[in-house]
Amino acid sequence: MLDPDPSHFDVAVIGAGPSGLVTGLACAALGLKTTIVGPVSNPQDGRSAALFQGSIQLLKNLNAWDALTSHAAPLKAIRLVDATGALIRAPEVTFHAHEIGWDAFGYAVPNGALTSALETAIATSAISRLTTQAVTAFDLTGGKAQITTSEDQKVSAQLIAAADGRSSPSRAAADIDCATWDYDQAAVVTTFEHSRTHGAISTEFHRRPGPLTVVPGPANTSSLVWVETPDEAQAIATLSDQAFAAALQKHLGGLLGNLTQFSPRRVFPLAGQTAKTLGKNRVALIGEAGHVMPPIGAQGLNLSFRDAAVLATLAAEVHSTSEDIGTQALLSRYDAARRADVTGRIWTIDLLNKSLLSDLLPVHLMRGAGLVAMQSLGPLRRRLMQEGMSPDYALPSLMREPSETVGSVQH
Ligand SMILES: Cc1cc2nc3c(=O)[nH]c(=O)nc-3n(C[C@H](O)[C@H](O)[C@H](O)COP(=O)(O)OP(=O)(O)OC[C@H]3O[C@@H](n4cnc5c(N)ncnc54)[C@H](O)[C@@H]3O)c2cc1C
Repeated sequence: MLDPDPSHFDVAVIGAGPSGLVTGLACAALGLKTTIVGPVSNPQDGRSAALFQGSIQLLKNLNAWDALTSHAAPLKAIRLVDATGALIRAPEVTFHAHEIGWDAFGYAVPNGALTSALETAIATSAISRLTTQAVTAFDLTGGKAQITTSEDQKVSAQLIAAADGRSSPSRAAADIDCATWDYDQAAVVTTFEHSRTHGAISTEFHRRPGPLTVVPGPANTSSLVWVETPDEAQAIATLSDQAFAAALQKHLGGLLGNLTQFSPRRVFPLAGQTAKTLGKNRVALIGEAGHVMPPIGAQGLNLSFRDAAVLATLAAEVHSTSEDIGTQALLSRYDAARRADVTGRIWTIDLLNKSLLSDLLPVHLMRGAGLVAMQSLGPLRRRLMQEGMSPDYALPSLMREPSETVGSVQH
């Protein structure tokens, strides 16, 4: 049947980073007429994301996983090492996926490979993909949202899924305030080869300036997230490969053997940000448009994938009744469904990060006591593992194996 209005959509996703591409695929998979509007992401992003089981299942359900398997590495264990130099040193804690009956917590996937696989899945589907430099104008005043791109292309939709990153022009157009704070920290990221096996274990060294994490990659490769003060991060990033390897080795202490073949290093300033609401004026916030946190515990993108699956599920539910999917009622349901997961994780990560930066002995004692409890109390360990990997409520069916009971969105 001929489309009566090819430039009008149920959902227009703004931003084609990992969150936007997944949101577009999720909405289309549930029968919503969807377009994704934004520039192609940088394939040399340099970061890898540790994606947990629900996120991996979502990628499988959206037919984007097969293209990623050769780039992905399983995460069978997560090790936390106290390298704060505090007076009282906390014990090393290792969480094994088999303790909660899983083969792996998830997989580490390079962001560049992830966005390429998602773009390929989109290109081979019926989803509209509008590659543009930017969306430059929004009209959110009528019975539908209208957007204009820098190339003067116009698109309208009932619902805008704003996945346009931490500075989100869509969020500003919808008049959504957010609280933003700075950590005076920056992360140096790179990937490298090493002579010893990583054993599919991700190791997070908790240091005073911030964590230093090595995440397993395919074969004998790992990706690194090394947090320092912004000045120190810049200085480290510009070292020669040899000097960089020596500086890194001081922290790893031979854990991975000889370190070689570093990819170009990139520096990401760390910040925290939370939007006052996740939905207003036909705009629902997804990913970093709604929440930003430091890279501790690999939560950011996993949270964004849950945003995507929940928004698509709620919108499809309303669409099946032929109602408008861009109303405040839908946006308030979305905000309510996501609020606890988003807020809980932002404040937990904030607390953990600040406990590293603190000079106060009681703070170090509390962090140490927490790690002792994690090491020795089986039920607490298992509870933390379950909660760290997925939230304490039923995930939407898009994030479950097709054979599993269909989960509802709780709110
Ligand atoms: C060092 C580091 C390590 C991390 N590790 C992990 C991890 O292990 N696990 C994890 O879950 N998370 C991790 N994260 C978090 C994760 O990388 C981010 O959450 C994720 O990359 C954000 O994706 P996004 O799509 O929301 O935003 P972005 O990737 O910023 O995408 C936003 C997109 O919107 C586009 N855009 C902006 N303005 C417009 C406009 N006007 N019109 C159209 N398009 C526009 C941009 O071009 C961009 O493509 C890490 C973060 C850092 C900094």
